[in-house]
Amino acid sequence: MKTVLITGGAGFLGSHLCDRFIKEGYRVIAMDNLITGDLRNIEHLFKLPNFEFYHHDVSKFIHVPGELDYILHFASPASPIDYLKIPIQTLKVGSLGIHNCLGLARVKNARVLIASTSEVYGDPTVHPQTEEYWGNVNPVGPRGVYDEAKRFQEAMTMAYHTYHGLETRIVRIFNTYGPRMRLNDGRVLPAFIGQALRGEDLTMFGDGSQTRSFCFVDDLVEGIYRLLLSDYPYPVNIGNPDEITIKEFGEEIIKLTGTNQKLISLPLPKDDPKQRQPNITKAKELLGWEPKVNRAEGLKITYEYFKSLPNDELYKMADHRGFKDYERK
Ligand code: UDP
Repeated sequence: MKTVLITGGAGFLGSHLCDRFIKEGYRVIAMDNLITGDLRNIEHLFKLPNFEFYHHDVSKFIHVPGELDYILHFASPASPIDYLKIPIQTLKVGSLGIHNCLGLARVKNARVLIASTSEVYGDPTVHPQTEEYWGNVNPVGPRGVYDEAKRFQEAMTMAYHTYHGLETRIVRIFNTYGPRMRLNDGRVLPAFIGQALRGEDLTMFGDGSQTRSFCFVDDLVEGIYRLLLSDYPYPVNIGNPDEITIKEFGEEIIKLTGTNQKLISLPLPKDDPKQRQPNITKAKELLGWEPKVNRAEGLKITYEYFKSLPNDELYKMADHRGFKDYERK
């Protein structure tokens, strides 16, 4: 039985990866400091003999006894609100955290896959984004702590690959959604669905002409699984190229939820990327991967999940509304 360590294992993506590797017959060790992760995402796995949970901050030295075959580094705050609230931890987990993971991988002779992001492209001037594009990032803007941590993480991972010959994989994840997203993480999908469920207006930032391309979590997990088992050490975009404006997206959520509320416009946050769409040619050619779940199906599943949450979850709003660093233009 192969063993995989998943950092950020109690988070949105991490917990879905735990499920997948359990399903594939692996021994899974999930590690999380639970700053943004939630044990409820993995509690159904606790009874399994091949699942373990370590409550640990990967920015500190990591000790795992026994053999490890794979390490998936998914620990990181990942929504603009989260990484503005905890900027230092965000920088640390992308730098000290990956250093610890790579060091552990060398000792264990394990293969490492790191979660990178479309944020490495910043506010992109190349559209759709290919892996060859170097990006347009403001290092000292509100997104800098996340974007630069992820860029550093890629550089560190490549250095371990070229200098130490470590087996490494880099996935650049585009906007992903699905069950287990946090209702109050400030991202557009939980924000809109939460508002619809509470009978509030939907807060569209700017005029809503900025675009995103949303990928359902099961598709993302499939792409990551294939990339891990491939032999390609350079970055690969995984995302759904079906691009939509935020205004159209809001209208879709209004239709899906049947809410009587409307879209209202709030000022656009600083450095909010104007457009984003993955070019997935590499993933198609190298991994034979492309997304299978369309937005209508994926949104329905996600909406059912949010509806099933207890009522107090729905009203547990993050204190982000007037968050001082969430600068607006
Ligand atoms: N957004 C919005 N209303 C919200 C939250 C987000 O209009 O309540 C916009 C945000 O300005 C951005 C897009 O939706 O243009 C996606 O935001 P999200 O935070 O989900 O992720 P991002 O792709 O910006 O990292």
